[in-house]
Amino acid sequence: MRIIKKIDELRMIIKDWKRNGYTVGLVPTMGYLHEGHKSLIERAVKENDRVVVSDFVNPTQFAPNEDFESYPRDINADAALCESAGASLVFNPDADEMYDSALTFVDMNKITKVLCGKTRPIHFSGVCTVVSKLFNIVTPDRAYFGQKDAQQLCVIKKMVKDLNFDIEIVGCPIIRESDGLAKSSRNTYLNPQERQAALCLSRSLEIGKKIITSGERNVKTVTDAIRAEIDREPLAEIDYIEMVDWNTLEPIEAVRKPILCAMAVYIGKTRLIDNFIME
Ligand code: AMP
Repeated sequence: MRIIKKIDELRMIIKDWKRNGYTVGLVPTMGYLHEGHKSLIERAVKENDRVVVSDFVNPTQFAPNEDFESYPRDINADAALCESAGASLVFNPDADEMYDSALTFVDMNKITKVLCGKTRPIHFSGVCTVVSKLFNIVTPDRAYFGQKDAQQLCVIKKMVKDLNFDIEIVGCPIIRESDGLAKSSRNTYLNPQERQAALCLSRSLEIGKKIITSGERNVKTVTDAIRAEIDREPLAEIDYIEMVDWNTLEPIEAVRKPILCAMAVYIGKTRLIDNFIME
C-alpha cells in the first residue's frame, strides 16, 4: 500500500487520476483503523475509481486536556487494512506538513455548540478546518463519514453547503461489535471491566428505540428511560443524552422524525459516544 506523506506528491497523483477521468473518493480518518472505517473504505471503493484514505491524528480538534498524545497509532496495520479494503493510497502527513504555522481556521455557529460541542468547544473548528484542507488537497467527488459521529456528519454536510464544496457527502451506518458496542479506536482504552460496562450505551439506546416504536412521543420520557439504564452502571458517568432534530440539531419536545438521539458517556476516564437516527 502506498503511504504518501507530502501534500505536493499527493496532488500530483490526484491530477494524474483526474487527467485519466477517474472519480475520487475520500475517507478521512484518524487511523487505528477497524471494521467501522473499513466499511466506509469498501463503500468508497464500490462508488469511485480511486480511493484516498487520510490517516491523520488532527491536533487542532483536541483540547489540551484531551487524549491527543495517547490516541492510538499504528500506520502499518492501517496500511494493511486499507490494502485489504481496496483503497488506492493512504495519506499520512505530519502535523507540520498539514499546518505549517497556519493562521486560518474554519468555524461554524450553532450546530457546533450543542451536543459534543458543549463539552468540546474547539473540537468542530478543528474538524471543519482539517476536513476543508483535505477537501482542497484531494478534491474528491465523494467523501465518506460514519453516522457513529452523527454531529460531525451533520456539521460537514452544512459546511459543504455553506462553503460550496462540490463534493457529495455520504453517511454510512454504525458498525458494532457482536455485543452491540459501537466500534471505536478509543475502545482500546477500556480495561475488561470497563469494556463490559460500556455496553450500557448501546443497551440504553435500544431501550429508547423500543419506547419510541411502541408509540411514546414525549422526548423527556424517552431520554429519562435511557438515562435510568446508564445510571444503573456504576462505572458510567453521563456527559449528555439528548434527542434533537436530525437536520438542525435543535432540541425537540415531541418525537417527530427525523430525529437524532445522541449520547456521550464516560466509562472510567474514556469518553464514548453512540446514537441512533430515525429518519
Ligand atoms: P475516526 O478515525 O474516529 O475519526 O473516524 C473516521 C471516520 O470513521 C468517521 O467518519 C467516523 O464516523 C467513522 N467511524 C468510526 N467508527 C465507526 C463505526 N463504528 N461505524 C461506522 N463508522 C465509523
